Amino acid sequence: MRHDLLHFPGPGPLYLGDLTARVELAVAGTSPFDAIALVDALLLDRPGSVLKPGEAARLAVADRDRLMASLHLAEFGSRIAGDRTCEACAARFSFDFDLGDLLGALAPSQAVERLQDGWLLAEGVRFRLPTGEDERIGAASGAKAGEVIALRCLPEGEVTHLGKVSQIAEAVAPLVDLTLKTTCPECGADHAMAFNAEAYFLGSLRARRARLMADIHRIASTYGWSYDSIVDLPQAHRQGFVDQITRDREAARRARRLG
Ligand SMILES: [Zn+2]
Repeated sequence: MRHDLLHFPGPGPLYLGDLTARVELAVAGTSPFDAIALVDALLLDRPGSVLKPGEAARLAVADRDRLMASLHLAEFGSRIAGDRTCEACAARFSFDFDLGDLLGALAPSQAVERLQDGWLLAEGVRFRLPTGEDERIGAASGAKAGEVIALRCLPEGEVTHLGKVSQIAEAVAPLVDLTLKTTCPECGADHAMAFNAEAYFLGSLRARRARLMADIHRIASTYGWSYDSIVDLPQAHRQGFVDQITRDREAARRARRLG
């Protein structure tokens, strides 16, 4: 799968391999660092690619976020659905919205001038967008993470605009990190809901883990193949085998019923 980066180390393409069971089962959580590990596991070394395997931490957070959203679209489709309890009337209601629409509506609110070395100019400030590497170093500095990240995104010594970096970054490269509004169908109360595409996608992968294990178990117990060979199957092949096993079992069940 080809994905086009908008920001440094782009603009340009990167190429991702198949989401095999091995890669999916290695997803340990829903943090930015789990996202970086996933991208590294999927990155292919292809001519023209702006990122090589092992370099996912160099991705701008905004590009990684869009990448996670497009992986969600490919794996789970565009419908995001859930249930919640109304805080006003205690009614349980379900909601859904379209990730494709959200992505389409997410345009930068501010034009920006690109400089060749990856720096950007906005509101007269020279800065660059935060990357996974910045997040890593920020996280290691505890409570001061925001300030440490912002400082790394400004040229050395230019601390005047420290407080503005995250604000400008959000204006020129918005994240799919939104507050969504839902309305209770029972009492009409409005509810705000945080939605972060990256964490949501990783959470969706974690949530289908039991089904993935069941698929591996089915293939292993039917064909007797090793664990390693099954978890490295291309995703479409794995699904094809599971569908075939299901059809065979249903046919056998029908035959028993008739006999
Ligand atoms: Zn209500």
